Amino acid sequence: MDDRSLGQRHSNIPIFIPHLGCPNDCIYCDQKIIAHQAVAPAPEQIAGILERHLTTIPAGTWTEAAFFGGSFTAIDLSLQEAYLQVVQPYLQQGVIKGIRVSTRPDCIDDNNLDLLSCYGVRMVELGVQSMCDEVLKTSGRGYDSRTVRHSCQRIQAKNLQLGIQLMIGLPGDTLARDIASARESAALQPQAVRIYPTLVLSGTKLAAMYDQGRYTPLDMEEAIRISKAMYLLFCLHDIPVIRMGLHPGPELQNPGIVKAGPFHSSFGEMVEQAVFRDHAYKTLQSFHDSFGIYDELCLHVNRRDLSKMIGQRRSNIIWICQQMGFDRLDVKGNLDQTLGSIGVGRGDEPARYVLSRRQYLEGLSW
Ligand code: SF4
Repeated sequence: MDDRSLGQRHSNIPIFIPHLGCPNDCIYCDQKIIAHQAVAPAPEQIAGILERHLTTIPAGTWTEAAFFGGSFTAIDLSLQEAYLQVVQPYLQQGVIKGIRVSTRPDCIDDNNLDLLSCYGVRMVELGVQSMCDEVLKTSGRGYDSRTVRHSCQRIQAKNLQLGIQLMIGLPGDTLARDIASARESAALQPQAVRIYPTLVLSGTKLAAMYDQGRYTPLDMEEAIRISKAMYLLFCLHDIPVIRMGLHPGPELQNPGIVKAGPFHSSFGEMVEQAVFRDHAYKTLQSFHDSFGIYDELCLHVNRRDLSKMIGQRRSNIIWICQQMGFDRLDVKGNLDQTLGSIGVGRGDEPARYVLSRRQYLEGLSW
């Protein structure tokens, strides 16, 4: 289903189509903000958006047009066609390789999926949010997990790629429920997953609950811990997690919009740093068990993983030194080390012991 070559850079051109006048009532949704601040572009404006982005995307990048922000399949059918039509010349020329759209699980039917396929849509991303019926109900999503499963099957039956978006920290949510949602989602074998911590946006029902003390958002530490557990689970199943944390667009950056919740522009990076920290800790423990050496140690990672290994303001290195009683711990980045793997050596010597990400994942207790 994907002709991308291994390691090829991927870029989505985001086209924000807010679902104005959406009849649903999700408690965290900021429809008023959407209605006041965002206007869906007219189909005639789409070419301009594509052209603008294409000038900034390096040659050789696998580029897709991504209609995000709402429930694409819930908007007027003729408008869906008009949007998709504009992308066709770019698909025919091969500058854009595919289209992806995001929508709700209860806005999927076979006719609409056929239409999407016809116009070159490759992936349908479903805003699933949770596989726990109680969480879906308290969040006002208006469908249950059975609907989600059916929609996923329908998408896959049409040979379309499936993306699943999950939220953590919704009212009634727990770590166990988030993990269960991740497990069930992994079983549906999506090609991509996104994980979003719930934020309290001004003017929403959730904001009123927060003001009344009836809802407490996750703090940053909990959000990272839960996202990390879900991320590892998807990695174990070779399912790419393509985003963690909301895109920090200007609408969220405006003062007063995010009232509470774990919002950080580098949320995904922070989760990956936490994964590297735990992976390195395990690698050092195994190294010590094998070689009994505890000083002058150096971690070896791929150069592209260096910042994730070190952490913000060297937080990972400081944490590991504290936990393991080291005075210092060096880190070297080189391009020979497999991405995601961590090696350990002494001083300037090459890594004597390497723990791949796969070995690390399989060594965890699931
Ligand atoms: S989050 Fe819910 S209420 Fe808001 S636009 Fe999407 S479906 Fe509608």
